[in-house]
Amino acid sequence: MPLHYKSTVEGNLLDDIYASTDLSVSLPKYKIPKNEQSPRHVYQVVHDELMLDGNSRQNLATFCQTWMEPEIRQLMDECIDKNMIDKDEYPQSAEIESRCVHMLADLWNAPQATKTLGCSTTGSSEAAMLGGMAMKWRWREKMEELGKPADKPNLICGPVQVCWHKFARYWDVELREIPMEGDRLIMTPEEVVKRCDENTIGVVPTLGVTFTCQYEPVQAVSDALDQLQKETGLDIPIHVDGASGGFIAPFIEPELLWDFRLPRVQSINASGHKFGLAPLGVGWVVWRSEEYLPQDLIFEVNYLGGNMPTFALNFSRPGGQIVAQYYNFLRLGIEGYRKIHQSCYDTARYLADQIEKIGIFDIIYNGRGGIPAMSFCLKPEVSPGFNLFDLSDRIRSRGWQIAAYAMPAEREDLVIMRILVRHGVSRDLADLLLDDLQRCIAYFAKNPMQHGSGSEESSGFSHG
Ligand SMILES: *Cc1c(COP(=O)(O)O)cnc(C)c1O
Repeated sequence: MPLHYKSTVEGNLLDDIYASTDLSVSLPKYKIPKNEQSPRHVYQVVHDELMLDGNSRQNLATFCQTWMEPEIRQLMDECIDKNMIDKDEYPQSAEIESRCVHMLADLWNAPQATKTLGCSTTGSSEAAMLGGMAMKWRWREKMEELGKPADKPNLICGPVQVCWHKFARYWDVELREIPMEGDRLIMTPEEVVKRCDENTIGVVPTLGVTFTCQYEPVQAVSDALDQLQKETGLDIPIHVDGASGGFIAPFIEPELLWDFRLPRVQSINASGHKFGLAPLGVGWVVWRSEEYLPQDLIFEVNYLGGNMPTFALNFSRPGGQIVAQYYNFLRLGIEGYRKIHQSCYDTARYLADQIEKIGIFDIIYNGRGGIPAMSFCLKPEVSPGFNLFDLSDRIRSRGWQIAAYAMPAEREDLVIMRILVRHGVSRDLADLLLDDLQRCIAYFAKNPMQHGSGSEESSGFSHG
């Protein structure tokens, strides 16, 4: 390096980050830059850009975890280089995954929990694909044995999360989704049975429906399918989408029959990163017993060393979330999970009571009979000077993210707001939210929106 550069370099090293030459120009957005830059500088820029994301703790629209114990962060850091697919190189991580599967099988009352099959996934979406595929494969085998055509499979569900729409489209299965009707916002046994035929690969009740947070009646549906089998011989399995509820019901309502205690329930999926309290990136699917997972779907892989059966859509994937899930199981135990979820229910019900008292909202879901959450709509007869989209927009000015959205098929007229109460949403935080809600309502009373009839017909209005 020529000597006369030395002072410049030294000068650069001591520069304040924001006064440095590389940060006083705007950084490339569409092309990878030609040369290296200082890690400290680049870190600062990326870090700063992330400030513009919302504050996840104030995002009351998400079901996913936004608060972690410091020990979880530490374990995630220690696992950053662990590839969960490489079970030969990381046998202990693989062992931990397998323990989690068996603990969940036991939690969900599988008849022989220590022998059950299951696996981790990236979330409930992947888990749902795997559960759905197993149902489709088993149905096809059955039809082939009977010498019947197996080209028109269908799946019956209530108002499902988008992953089931994806499953149906990606795997060419007709989705018979039961529409909402009046005050009935979930599936009923009668509506399920009406749609069953010999091409039905399975029924998917959701434990914690995305739109309303209610539990669908798994036991009643199972009973109705038992009756159907008696009458017609059709033996239709159930897969429970327990994305949220699978990690709540066993702790809060252990007597609720929705899991493998019902013989018709053949598989269950749940999101570790929702009420399983693990960091983002882990879900689970567990089969009632080995025979429900067709061998055809399992691949033997030996090029990582050892011979490993794999059943998943992904290959390489981080192992930290699985380890964190195991940490949570040991750290919290049944009682720890119960306490955390119970306090969330208490806060959700408190919010429902307080929001009802404001007088202009109807409570759609009050935190009872589903997951820890509450939802509300505007009373049809009020004219508060805003609709729920305005309110969602306005409350964002205090950092809160609460989505306003229309219900799915046949109740698109109903626009609601939903508040998820998760680990880390304290009673105090709920009170601060209520204050802000009151402030927004007072603001709109003084500054009514022009379209703001308050009636839901303004739901299609695009604000901005
Ligand atoms: C969140 C959710 C899913 C999708 O789960 P991910 O873990 O986000 O992939 C599926 N079904 C229901 C009922 C859900 O709540």
